[in-house]
Amino acid sequence: MHLVTSFVSQIVALMLLSLNLGFPGSVAGQNGADHGIDFSYQSHNELVVLLHQIAWKCRSITRLYDIGRSVQGRRLYVLEMSDNPGVHEVGEAEFKYVANMHGNEATGRQLLIFLAQYLCEEYTKKNKRIQKLINSTRIHLLPTMNPDGFEMAYRRHVVMGRVPSMYGRGNANNVDLNRDFPDLNDIMYKHEQTGGANNHLLQLIRENKEGRQPETQAIMDWMAQYPFVLSANMHDGDLVANYPYDKSRNTRKMYSATPDDNLFRELALTYSLYHRTMATRAEPCRFQGAKVFRDGVTNGADWYIVSGGMQDYNYLSSNCFDITLELGCDKFPREEELKRKWEDNRESLIEYIDKVHIGIKGQVMDTDRNPIANAVIRVTGPSIAHDVTTATDGDYWRLLLPGVYTVTVHARGYKPKTVVVPVRRYRPTKANFILKPLPKESSGCKLRQLEEEGYLLGGFRAALRQFGFLGDDCDGLVERREDVLASMEDTTASP
Ligand SMILES: [Zn+2]
Repeated sequence: MHLVTSFVSQIVALMLLSLNLGFPGSVAGQNGADHGIDFSYQSHNELVVLLHQIAWKCRSITRLYDIGRSVQGRRLYVLEMSDNPGVHEVGEAEFKYVANMHGNEATGRQLLIFLAQYLCEEYTKKNKRIQKLINSTRIHLLPTMNPDGFEMAYRRHVVMGRVPSMYGRGNANNVDLNRDFPDLNDIMYKHEQTGGANNHLLQLIRENKEGRQPETQAIMDWMAQYPFVLSANMHDGDLVANYPYDKSRNTRKMYSATPDDNLFRELALTYSLYHRTMATRAEPCRFQGAKVFRDGVTNGADWYIVSGGMQDYNYLSSNCFDITLELGCDKFPREEELKRKWEDNRESLIEYIDKVHIGIKGQVMDTDRNPIANAVIRVTGPSIAHDVTTATDGDYWRLLLPGVYTVTVHARGYKPKTVVVPVRRYRPTKANFILKPLPKESSGCKLRQLEEEGYLLGGFRAALRQFGFLGDDCDGLVERREDVLASMEDTTASP
């Protein structure tokens, strides 16, 4: 607590100051001004002050909140930018950037601060593109997920000028936060054999909150609270946009595609191609095993295997599609390079947020126009075996590449509904669903319950039909489901 309260008076003073002076900055303009941005590093406390300044300067489109605290008690601040901050508007897509989960990987932390200042300034200047983006999107920026690790690395940077490559990577308990998420891949890979679901898998495991680092738990709670659609998390050490899965089907490194592989590739390419050098660089980073990635993108497990990582966790536990951005060879670049880093990444950062507006979106309601939460949106033709679900207001977002799709919506107690939807490139197609309730006697059928919970996919369903399980008697199915659940228990030990 003292970390923050000791700065309250300073924050208030600086907020008042920023009313008159824009962004004063501690050493303003030292490395070249642009949108009033000071291209320097800040300590955590200076970051907190700066975030308050930005939030105050653009108070009509920002909200500063925290999602919890680090091991050493530092708040994990998120700057929200939206035309209606603090409110989830029905149908408005939510986006997040998470940086600095490895405390010594500093570029993303600074980029998000610069991005916030840029968006604030351009919105105020009535830049049409930025106004459209902020008016149509709820953007959440978490500049540092690991402030304790950052402080350690930052102090070293100030004193020595250089930070050893693993120094400050973990949190204050020296845990690598990108290995600390529940490992849902093993469950999913098993389900590929048994026909189980590959989404919202967190509800299938007994989660051990005590064993989780506070920073990781904060992210997990945050994700459960907000209906995020798209995100990226930022690292340093190489220059590449990396997409799921990060964990392969066995212990070998190998291309490990999700059912959304084409989409993920396009998302990663959006970042790399708009980046000034990511897709075109000729030289690998200078460390053993470094390579040049084709078009600046890679499948995670095709590069190296990560177990308990955040990007796979996003895809397997929620509706959010997350990729991992490696922003450069140097983990803690020299301060003089920050302005160039910003210029290299600026277009990518904005274009990538805009990708939240592709595919289909809409609302699922009953015949009385009440929203239906947790309805399942399934793309059946061409089949993409990964469902998303509706949020509290019955609204949903299903990112898709251009094409024509058959989409079916399931909800417990309602008749499923199927529509054919064309998807164009630059804006989402709206598809609302009104579901009729099922007659009372059939809504109790366990088979339907199973189906809604996502246990009947592809081959498994065909097998059940063949063996007569899809007749009037649902009991066999229920037993089978219990078998599947029981066998899953074995695989859910903490990562
Ligand atoms: Zn990293």
